Amino acid sequence: LPQRFGWIGLGAMGYPMAVQLRRKIPNSSELCIFDVNQSVLQRFQQEEGDFGPIRVASKAKEVAEKSDFIISIVPEGIHVKEVYLHPEDGLLAAEDTSAKIFVDWQVSKYSHHGLISHSSFISSTIDPATSLAVGRAVHASHPATPSKFYDAPVSGGTAGASKAILTFMVGAAPDDPIFPLLQEIFSYMGTSIHPLGGPSLGLAAKLSNNYLSGMIALATAEAMNLGMRLGLDSKVLSNCFAISSGGSWVNSTVNPVPGVCPDAVTSKGYEGGFKVQLMKKDMSLAMDAARKVGAKLVLGDAGLSAYSAAAEDPRFRDKDSRVVYRWLGGVEPN
Ligand code: NAD
Repeated sequence: LPQRFGWIGLGAMGYPMAVQLRRKIPNSSELCIFDVNQSVLQRFQQEEGDFGPIRVASKAKEVAEKSDFIISIVPEGIHVKEVYLHPEDGLLAAEDTSAKIFVDWQVSKYSHHGLISHSSFISSTIDPATSLAVGRAVHASHPATPSKFYDAPVSGGTAGASKAILTFMVGAAPDDPIFPLLQEIFSYMGTSIHPLGGPSLGLAAKLSNNYLSGMIALATAEAMNLGMRLGLDSKVLSNCFAISSGGSWVNSTVNPVPGVCPDAVTSKGYEGGFKVQLMKKDMSLAMDAARKVGAKLVLGDAGLSAYSAAAEDPRFRDKDSRVVYRWLGGVEPN
């Protein structure tokens, strides 16, 4: 295992994931953290400092200087670009100044295990083109002993992050020599770790999945509202879906109607969870990707316009995406 870990982005997903990592890596390993939100850095240090050393960085570049295995989980492609490619403060700015020491250390470390020299960069849900461009920049930053860049989007939501039961969709070939290391580290935070074939294919799977899950959530919200307006009790209706052809993970785990899944964010004021803005982002990324490859998405326009309208409404903007039930004017459960 690398001795020094780096973490960028301590938001709704990143924070509970980094908690798992800090608690499961050896006490002697250092975790260097960075987020543009200062208060979250202090909170993490206070809450998790007992589990091992935590270094707070003042910029992404410092994380690269102080870490060998770096995970970033920030909102959008523009933030990923800033984190990696900002000319003064980005991760690769550090590569430029101290790449030899940084990467050579890797060579000596991993050559014992027969692995190629690398440092690993793992990213959040961004568009495949941005991910491929960042990956190329990582490789080009030190061609003699190239670093590695993996796209490894996660699925399972904030509840999955807190319970360390996430799914990782990894843009790597199954026989990639680094994959066993990724598998080990990801297993601290998740239970399903899938190599999907090569660079950007983790994102391809994630975008396809989120398109599907966003549509299922919207359809479930509409169908729940319909059934309830026809007189059905919300829980009775959801249980009926679960044993019929309308059942789904959304219906049973995070049903959009408050009270149906008592532990879900949808029953807790839609606070936390997967923000409606992020669902809008993933929908439009999926639609862009579909246009590029000629995949017809007939539901796409309707879904995107629903999530966009909800994301523009100040009442819903920062809420979990299943708040689309409220945006639809869904009835109060009985
Ligand atoms: P979030 O908005 O809660 O957190 C993002 C964090 O990144 C914030 O703390 C923010 O301050 C920080 N940040 C933004 N720009 C930064 C920069 N330039 N440098 C350093 N830090 C920066 O978002 P989230 O819900 O944690 O989602 C993050 C990513 O994970 C998104 O791409 C999202 O699509 C994906 N994701 C989210 C969920 C979910 O259920 N929330 C599930 C799977 C995947």
